[in-house]
Order: sequence, then C-alpha cells, then structure tokens
Amino acid sequence: MNKLGHVLFATFIFTFVYVVISNLMELEIEKILIAYFIFIVYTLLPDIDKNNSWIRKQLDKIIILLLIFFTGISIINNDQTALIIAGILLLLEIILTVIKHRGPLHSFTFGILTASPLLFLDPVYFFAGFLGVVVHLLADSF
Ligand SMILES: [Zn+2]
Repeated sequence: MNKLGHVLFATFIFTFVYVVISNLMELEIEKILIAYFIFIVYTLLPDIDKNNSWIRKQLDKIIILLLIFFTGISIINNDQTALIIAGILLLLEIILTVIKHRGPLHSFTFGILTASPLLFLDPVYFFAGFLGVVVHLLADSF
C-alpha cells in the first residue's frame, strides 16, 4: 500500500477508535490532534525499510542534515562525541539501505520500541504511535 492508502486507511481507523474512546474518557481537542499527527507518522514509519518510500525520503534528508551537522561539529570542536553520533547516523543509513522491506521493521516489536519514548510524554501518545504501526501492518496484509 502507498502513502495515501496508508493515511486514508489510518484516518478511517482513527475516527472509529476516537468514537469508541470519546465515549469512555474525555480528551482535549489539542491532545486528539497531536495523537492524530503521531498516529499518521507512525502509520507511515514501517516503510522506512523501503528505499523509495515517502517517509524514507524525509528520513534520509533529516539523517543527511544531522550527519553534516555532527561531522562539522566534530571537525570544528575536535569533539569525539559528535563523531560517534555521526558514525551511528551513518550506520543507521547503511542498515536502512540493506534491511529487507517488510522485514523486522514490519513487526509489533518495532511498534513497541519506536512508540515507547512517547510514554515520557503521555500514554495516549504511546497508544497512538503503537496503534499507527499496527494499522500499517493490518493495511499491508490486504
Ligand atoms: Zn509497509
């Protein structure tokens, strides 16, 4: 499924889940909008293992900018930590290039691992992120 298909399918599921949840608990509109944004990003996230996907192209741009930034910092300030971060970013880019599409990044484990930092913000955001990945897996299975 392509980006538009994933976003439309995810929006349909989000609306359904929202109707169910809004009957059980009260959520502010800001929180719902942020949760929807997180949900959409996470529903696209597993396809970072696909070299020509939209989300991968966005991630590549971010990684390249960070790589230039941290390499520059390491040269200018002779900073070892910045050099290690640049090395990790380069390694991440290599792993994403060689990893199999619909391999380990299309899993519940990936969903839990990538959504868990959201627990520091709000459990609702964690749920939105994890559900986004699950909805992606569901959409890919059709
Ligand atoms: Zn996929």
